[in-house]
Amino acid sequence: MKEDENSSSPTDFSDDSSVTTGIRSLKELIDLVSGRTVSSHLPQEESGRAEALPFPFLGIVAQLEMKLALLLGIINPAIGGVLLIGPRGTGKTTAVRSLLNLLPDVKRSTCYYGCTEEDIEAGGIDAVCPECAQKYAEGLPLTKNDPVRLVELPLNAQLPDVIGSIDDQIDLHERRRLKRGILAQADLNVLFVDEVNLINDEIINVILDASAGGRFVIKRGDLRATYNARFSLVGSMNPEEGNIRSQILDRFGLRVIVRGLNDVSDRLEAYQRVRLYQNNPHLLIRQYEMDTNLARQEVISARERLKNVHLPEPVAHKAIQLIRHLNIDSLRAEITFLEAVRAYCAADGRDSVTMNDIQQVAPMALRLRHSHFMDSYFNERDLEDQKLQNTMTDVFSQTDPQKE
Ligand SMILES: [Zn+2]
Repeated sequence: MKEDENSSSPTDFSDDSSVTTGIRSLKELIDLVSGRTVSSHLPQEESGRAEALPFPFLGIVAQLEMKLALLLGIINPAIGGVLLIGPRGTGKTTAVRSLLNLLPDVKRSTCYYGCTEEDIEAGGIDAVCPECAQKYAEGLPLTKNDPVRLVELPLNAQLPDVIGSIDDQIDLHERRRLKRGILAQADLNVLFVDEVNLINDEIINVILDASAGGRFVIKRGDLRATYNARFSLVGSMNPEEGNIRSQILDRFGLRVIVRGLNDVSDRLEAYQRVRLYQNNPHLLIRQYEMDTNLARQEVISARERLKNVHLPEPVAHKAIQLIRHLNIDSLRAEITFLEAVRAYCAADGRDSVTMNDIQQVAPMALRLRHSHFMDSYFNERDLEDQKLQNTMTDVFSQTDPQKE
């Protein structure tokens, strides 16, 4: 059976010429990516306060695959992070910062030590600091609604900056012995690791572990403390500035190759929007405000819908067949690919994954996963085993000279 039977071919993301006007909603992005026609409508004029000043996500021209990958990453953090690969000046950092527009508020601890009601439910009143225990006893909330923030990892960060450090000199309540690090600050936020390829392996591994588990553990002597680190991870790198080890690369769920805009009218539109943003960010943000609010609602709905998205067995089978045909060994490929496909389906407002969903998501989930090194390594081992078998056959078929 042909691989592409019953479904349309995947979108070619390099041809962005039809999307000069950008997108006005998550639904519209999905429509564009899946090749459906989209009714264009004019920007909605809406006045209102714009407190956050990132560039509007919906105002980013073209770059469909980058926008889609980032959206899937915030809809389903189980994808395990998005890596943007491309030269400088292609809008990677702008896109990551603009994601904040689309994220609903989170319930954030009002305490420096991150105490929440959930901690008490899970670990009793001693799980929170004395002040929070007092507040809880008085029936006061420990959390409040708060916008999602972007936490950026500094290039020169050291391990203690990332995981935090515990002061074991003073005998305080366990919570108060932690000097919060970047991972603790990233909880419920977006963690952006720029220039992933220049960060030392120990640090990037700690971040990837925390991202995968949603928590991290600090051990010091007999003290062992667990902290939440539920964040959406986005990495970026410029391949001109050095390679990334394949073991690290493998741990990012989605990988997007970000190129500069090809189309002249796209470039002009992008230039004009950036210029407007630089001169009057409030004005540009206001132009997108109503659509941004709707898109945020779409993200909330998609996250809710994701819980019930069903993956029919023939579709899952086809996805795994594709991975096998590409000679990808890592099991992470299945996990992140299928999680991304479920997010895509949820973003499109459906409950059951289709063959077409698989095709739309496959490039970003499966590129850069095939290892040529492992290919030749396995080939050599196969040859070696063959030779071993042949030699054994020869040796054991020979008549034993002592019995002659
Ligand atoms: Zn507290």
